[in-house]
Order: sequence, then C-alpha cells, then structure tokens
Amino acid sequence: MNKLEILKKRMPLNATESRLLLVRNLGIEGEAFISRILSEKLNVQPLVLEDFLFEIDGSECQIDFLLIFEYECLIIEVKHYDGDYIYGDEFITKLNTKKSYPNPTLQLVRATDRLAKLFVKENIRMKIITSLLYTHPGFYLYHAPVDSRVVFLPQIKKFMETLNKKPCGIQERHERVFERLKSLRLESSSYERKITYDFDELKKCVTCAKCDGEMVRKNAGDRKYVYCTLCDTQENFQEAMLRNSAELEYLFPEKRLTLSLVLEWVGDCISRQFLRNILATRYKLVRSGRTTHYVRRNLDRKL
Ligand SMILES: [Zn+2]
Repeated sequence: MNKLEILKKRMPLNATESRLLLVRNLGIEGEAFISRILSEKLNVQPLVLEDFLFEIDGSECQIDFLLIFEYECLIIEVKHYDGDYIYGDEFITKLNTKKSYPNPTLQLVRATDRLAKLFVKENIRMKIITSLLYTHPGFYLYHAPVDSRVVFLPQIKKFMETLNKKPCGIQERHERVFERLKSLRLESSSYERKITYDFDELKKCVTCAKCDGEMVRKNAGDRKYVYCTLCDTQENFQEAMLRNSAELEYLFPEKRLTLSLVLEWVGDCISRQFLRNILATRYKLVRSGRTTHYVRRNLDRKL
C-alpha cells in the first residue's frame, strides 16, 4: 500500500500524482515477477534487499533489488515496459506514441554511482555489478546494442543460471552490511512525503480494496458484509472497517484515533457500539484525561 493508492479513492489526484502512481504500479508488476523468479529459481541464498530507497549527497536513489553475494553486490533494475521501442543513447522511444523515456541503462549507471558513493561513505568494501531486466512479454527494443548487463525476457533463464554459479558463502560481515543498508532505507520518496492532503477534504466512506469504489451494506439487516457499488466485491464488514481504519492511521499518523474520528472516516455507516466492538479486536483503548483514543495492540503499523 502506498499513500497515493489510498488517496486516489478519496480525492482527485493531479496529473503528476496519477503518473507517479501508474509508473509505480507498472514497476510493481515487473518487480513481483522477478521476486517470484528469485524465490523459485535461485538455488544459492544471497541476502536480498527489495525496493531499496536511500539518500546520498542530498539526492534520492531507488534500487529494485540488491543482492549481496560473497564477493559482490548485484543491482537488479526491472523495467516492465510494454510495446515496441527504439533504442537511443539518452532515451528509448515508443514506436506508436513517439514518447521518449530515459534510457534505463543510464539510470542503472546513475544508481551504481550513487550506491558506490554510499558504500564509500559507509566504509563498505564490495564490488558492485549490475543487471537490467526487461520483464514484459510484449516488449521489443529495436537497435539495442550488445550489452551484457541487459537481460531480455528470453534470457532470464540463463541469467538465473549465472546467478546460481556465484559464490555465496554469507558470513557475519555480509549480514552486517545488509543490516546497515536496511537501516538506511527511506520509507517513502521525497515526492511522496510532499503530497499534501487534508482530512476535511477527503471523501468519508468505506473504500473498496480492489477498485476506487465505495462499499455499502445492502440492507440494514445484513450486518456481516459490505459490497462495492462499482465492482460488487463482497468483504466482511469487520475486515473492511479495520482496513479503512488502518488507512486512516497510515495517512494521519499524527492524529489520535478516536471513535468519532474513525466513525467520520467511514462515513457514519455504523453504530458507535458496533464500531467500538470491531476496533476492540485490534486496538486497545487508552484514556488520557477526559478523552479516550485507540492504539494498536502490537506495534506493527504495517498495512
Ligand atoms: Zn470495488
């Protein structure tokens, strides 16, 4: 879950935000594909850091996969572009739309430079190697130069065989590097942190997990399920409430989670007592002076 994904169900996004969301979702598809291949086809066990976002010299860098082997550290960048493209030194251009995208090989070089800088700063001595994986079955790149770093979909099997031959004796020092890198990881990009939204301006309803629709109860007697008015998905009412309250916590970590706040958030679709019972399954009630608010029973605030 990310902020934009939740927000788009409750407010209109501007063009930049919509584009960011689209790019990210496409990226997620490709990354999920590689993540699955790595877990199924990798016989050796390097340390794997997925979606590593870090800051160096005041700028941010995101790496899809970072694999720590015994002697080297492999950056894997995944591109899930669909369609026919023409290769250019600085841009690759989509044939039918003539739209240009930054050459992913150059992005890879930049990512390598930044990671190398981070390694120097953190006193990590490891060789960095890189691979760029094109994962979409409908992707073709005209005039692509021969480049051993670039892996097209039909070459992924061979690529995995190469990885399986790499020495992979993971020791304590590798674990230390891995833990250090994990601790430097940023939770969200600076752009994401800059997105502004206001509680009062967001739509108050139970949102659907599968689409941007709103969920309602079909009739007053049916207390167990809610249904999406757009895609007709059915969800257990309690789960939908907890999912929506988790989104509220995620978007507004500074707000105190009171019964009235959650009630307003879900569009007053439930009685106070019923909501109280549902919230009690995940949160505990904390009294501060004359007011009460909810906090999670465990500290895991992940969605
Ligand atoms: Zn839906």
